[in-house]
Amino acid sequence: MKLPEWTMHEEEQIVQVKISMSYPLRWVNSYLWRGETGVVIVDPGPRSEQTEEEWRIVWDALSIAPNEITDIVLTHHHPDHYGLAGWMQEQTGAKVWMSQRAHQEAEFMWGKTADINQVLPDFFRSHGMTEKWAEQLFSHMESFQPQVTPFPRVQYIEEGAFEVGGRKFQAIETAGHAPGHLSFYDPERELILCGDAVLPQISPNVSLLPGSDPEPLLHFLEGLERMEGLEVRKAFPGHRHPMVSYQSRLGTLKAHHGERLQQMEKMLTGQPLTAFEVCVALFGEKFGIHQMRFAMAETLAHLYELVRQDRAKVCQKTDEDSKRIVIAFRI
Ligand SMILES: [Zn+2]
Ligand SMILES: [Zn+2]
Repeated sequence: MKLPEWTMHEEEQIVQVKISMSYPLRWVNSYLWRGETGVVIVDPGPRSEQTEEEWRIVWDALSIAPNEITDIVLTHHHPDHYGLAGWMQEQTGAKVWMSQRAHQEAEFMWGKTADINQVLPDFFRSHGMTEKWAEQLFSHMESFQPQVTPFPRVQYIEEGAFEVGGRKFQAIETAGHAPGHLSFYDPERELILCGDAVLPQISPNVSLLPGSDPEPLLHFLEGLERMEGLEVRKAFPGHRHPMVSYQSRLGTLKAHHGERLQQMEKMLTGQPLTAFEVCVALFGEKFGIHQMRFAMAETLAHLYELVRQDRAKVCQKTDEDSKRIVIAFRI
């Protein structure tokens, strides 16, 4: 096994630990520091035998006894951030903190009454997705369950002041990438732990899922606006490397979504198109089901944002291949 890597960010007194996850992201950043009463870990990573072993190695190397870990803080509910929280809580007895909305979303995805794995394939079919892709979705979605089990017992973080491990943060709602996503701003050190709300190089996925946030792109852009006014010297994201060019990254992300909306609006000036047709025209089909799910849900987020802004309308058409009536979009 490849040894996990970590970096001590001296000035901020934060350790960045790279925990393995699947391609294309390859690793998720966990962050930790030692406070007066114990060790805090932010976003422990997805659960697998490998990631458990990686944490044992890191604790050993940093001389951290598991029972010194007092708090596990989660930016959002995605498996690559939340997944190990329950396991780590069992190992350490730590409190697990997340927003109530994010916890609700974890239940919505994987809880006892969750039915998203059945609902999602039909939702995508109704937006024109071909059977070749739709039939892969159920088992793909089911494959996440082991990455998030067991579930942690959680305590809720409210927006605003949040003190943990001797540091005073402002918890800022930065949803859109995930409902209830929080970023943690430390005004004293001028740093922000921004999870997947702002990433370098990658545009954070903004997904529309049936039964979840119906306006994810609006909420994503509102989150960027909330972050714009902050004095930040360094931002610590959920993937890739810490950023000093945080402010310009916010601007780039905002511009990217503005352009993408315009591009789709233009595509709709001819025949009505399904979300799947728009998706394939923009992203192609030369990737696996994981990427396709993200591409399709991102396309839907943008198309329904055009509808919300009154720049497009929902209509119906007959799908040429399946002869089914499907949902389409037109100007
Ligand atoms: Zn995420
Ligand atoms: Zn992530």
